[in-house]
Amino acid sequence: MKKLSILLSTALFCCLFIFSGCEQQGQQKSAPAEKKDIYLQLYSLRDDIKADFAATIDSVAKMGYTGIEAAGYNDGLFYGMSPADFKKAIEDAGLEVLSSHAGRPLAEPASDTNWEETWAWWDTAIQAHKDAGMKYLVVAWIPAPKTLADLQAYCDYFNQIGEKCNAAGLRFGYHNHNFEYKEVEGELMYDYMLKNTDPAKVFFQMDVYWTVMGQKAPVDYFNEYPGRFEILHIKDSKELGQSGMVGFDAIYNNVDKAGAKYMVVEVERYSGTPFNGVRESIDYLNNADFVKASYNK
Ligand code: MG
Repeated sequence: MKKLSILLSTALFCCLFIFSGCEQQGQQKSAPAEKKDIYLQLYSLRDDIKADFAATIDSVAKMGYTGIEAAGYNDGLFYGMSPADFKKAIEDAGLEVLSSHAGRPLAEPASDTNWEETWAWWDTAIQAHKDAGMKYLVVAWIPAPKTLADLQAYCDYFNQIGEKCNAAGLRFGYHNHNFEYKEVEGELMYDYMLKNTDPAKVFFQMDVYWTVMGQKAPVDYFNEYPGRFEILHIKDSKELGQSGMVGFDAIYNNVDKAGAKYMVVEVERYSGTPFNGVRESIDYLNNADFVKASYNK
């Protein structure tokens, strides 16, 4: 009888132990993962935006993106909307307005530039970006300079734009493709730009895919020019992680050196639809252990 009683007590204890273990596991599983701050360059959904702006923005929010970088500035308007209407549309969808690609190239040669028109263009653009609630204004590309004098003219131009942006409370940056990793008269263009722009006025929005396509390692640049890369374009050949060409783990593990505060996903080509590519890309980052919840804290 005593034996039976001990046996029953042991069995009851085991059941309780297993039950409480299950409950604990269940609680761990149901606890929501910390939401990651992941932004989207809207160029990724350029055709969908043309077809239906509001529905596209709504889908971006539902996928879990935190905010957006615009690629539709023209003549004081964003995607044809006033800055205030654009800001409201983004924020009403539950997204943050972060940044925007906009720019005006110099004349060729640079000495032919009409400076009065050029600075009037920038004054309008800077005011519009401020009114839209942007933190950043980024030049997406420049015509590939043929001479160092042309390249220096762009560095001087960028320092001046950066100074104007700073005065308005915006940060100014330059976004690369792969031609910046070629030499201009014996100087590697990207390095020349990093060395000849003022860090207080010009940051670099490194597109990590284009850097790899330029046969350079993003992390080498973070080490050589620490703190210059305030935003990263997180891009792959198609949706993120698809090609295996870009070492996203090394990039994210060295964000502190880069000085990056914001990660902007860009998808330019797709295995399926643009929507699926954009969704698969945020899922890839959400499932990656090397991606922290935020880099701006
Ligand atoms: Mg890019």
